[in-house]
Amino acid sequence: PYFVDFRDVWLAYNDELLAQNHFAVEAIDLQVKTGEFIAIVGPSGCGKSTFMKLATGLRMPSMGKILIDGQPVTGPLKISGMAFQSPSLLPWRTTVDNVLLPLEIVEPHRSQFKTKRKEYEARARHLLQKVGLGGYEDKFPWQLSGGMQQRASICRALIHEPQMLLLDEPFGALDAFTREELWCILRDLHAEQQFNVILVTHDLRESVFLADTVYVMSKSPGRFVVRRDIAFPRP
Ligand code: ADP
Ligand code: ADP
Repeated sequence: PYFVDFRDVWLAYNDELLAQNHFAVEAIDLQVKTGEFIAIVGPSGCGKSTFMKLATGLRMPSMGKILIDGQPVTGPLKISGMAFQSPSLLPWRTTVDNVLLPLEIVEPHRSQFKTKRKEYEARARHLLQKVGLGGYEDKFPWQLSGGMQQRASICRALIHEPQMLLLDEPFGALDAFTREELWCILRDLHAEQQFNVILVTHDLRESVFLADTVYVMSKSPGRFVVRRDIAFPRP
């Protein structure tokens, strides 16, 4: 069974572009097995971010079908966690309060969040320990380095125990040493918890180090195609 199933998916960003047959992604057929870690590499403008928007239900396809966990996607999904190149922590919240944010939003009633707050906070602190942020839980973002903020943003993406983690160039802004340390942390978290990961990156080495399967998205004139047949063995 596939967790993510793209069947001949096309997206034009608006009706005008659709009328001109101008698609941001074309004919994407891609299946991700439950628990699989995939990476997508490709040049700027080939459609990687568009793919992410489709996989989280932030955009609906113009043509084709997307199933997540067997269900057709009809709107934004709560089952996913996201992290981007910039950690974008809220500056007026401590590290632990930033990490708790998705739970605050996902809980239907504020009062429910309050009653479970202790349990959630313990989970957040545990996760922060794991990524090496023990001792920084109650600091503010400006008291943390860029790498530390990025660690916190990965914790924030995982706090609600998502079935799918979407990472868009999350290590792009980090120095080589911090980057490789975070690769190992992410690999361990994935091995332990078996969520699905879709990683977008420009770093081929990163994709090969982390992913079970690497997809190369290409940009031929006016066309955006996912090639499914390129997979590297893991080191
Ligand atoms: P990547 O993430 O690989 O750089 P994108 O998915 O951002 O690529 O872009 C794919 C194509 O869709 C590009 O031609 C881009 O110009 C176009 N595009 C992206 N976002 C929009 C938008 N909001 N409206 C119209 N066109 C867009
Ligand atoms: P960078 O993002 O600058 O590469 P790292 O996240 O790799 O930094 O952090 C390297 C180490 O330096 C951390 O483990 C921490 O001990 C220390 N460090 C970095 N910035 C700070 C800071 N603002 N306050 C305290 N310690 C810091």
